[in-house]
Amino acid sequence: MASVLLAGACQPALAKLNVVATTPDFGSIAAAIGGDAVSVTTLAKPTEDPHFVDAKPSFIVKLNRADAIIEGGADLEIGWLPALLDQSRNAKLASGAPGHIACSQGVQLLEVPALLDRSKGDIHAAGNPHYLTDPANAKVVARHIAEGFSGLDPKSGEVYQANLKKFTDRLDAKIAEWEKALAPFKGQRVVAYHDSWPYFAHRFDLKLDLFLEPKPGIPPTPVHLAEVIMQMRSEHIRAVLVEPYQNRKTAQTVAADTSAAVVDVSQFPGGIKGTEAGYIELIDYDVNALARALGTSSK
Ligand SMILES: [Zn+2]
Repeated sequence: MASVLLAGACQPALAKLNVVATTPDFGSIAAAIGGDAVSVTTLAKPTEDPHFVDAKPSFIVKLNRADAIIEGGADLEIGWLPALLDQSRNAKLASGAPGHIACSQGVQLLEVPALLDRSKGDIHAAGNPHYLTDPANAKVVARHIAEGFSGLDPKSGEVYQANLKKFTDRLDAKIAEWEKALAPFKGQRVVAYHDSWPYFAHRFDLKLDLFLEPKPGIPPTPVHLAEVIMQMRSEHIRAVLVEPYQNRKTAQTVAADTSAAVVDVSQFPGGIKGTEAGYIELIDYDVNALARALGTSSK
């Protein structure tokens, strides 16, 4: 109602949908879909572990003023977001409200356990939450975000639909290119520090089921690393994926003991220099870095 009273003095810019995204991958897709009709703020830094984001008081202010929150769901942000949402006292973002856009809806989650069990420190108790490492899931998320924005801001519905088509068309062309780049390595096993890549593996037909962490969220132990190194040697595994917030030294030690290379990758645009432009540029980087490490340069 306040906006009606202010309409006389209102700049068109003020009518933008004020959107907060939890992590930069969702923020990047939200910006691509929203275009000039939305203003997107992302809470987590691209170099931060999405499970353990440093919740600053300024986040509460941002959430208090937001029209929508975009979160991954599937327990990704369970350690830090619920308390912030409570403290923001913003009914628009309440669970079930149109302003609460949970992107895991419509995504086929992998590694969903038969029984929910958060004991032993497993931070993937509700299934694996890193589904945006499969670019095909980015299409599902983009559609979900476009629907959410259209519901909140019907006057810009056509803009959101047009941007969705543009994003999806661009992604489709890139997916074909990425599949080609990784095709020579079908079936190969790759090691990762954390279980962030099962969706990526599923899309590109790789095996990514051996991790430096004994369990998601549990730091590597010498006994576990010794087992991983043995398996890497016997299978001639060529790559260890490490993300910006993980212990690169541990990955280097493992790689030095085997014939593998450390490959720096990220789930988040901006997590690695040169990937700031957005989600598609990020996956492009990840695919090419892995393809190079596994044996050929795809470009
Ligand atoms: Zn995780």
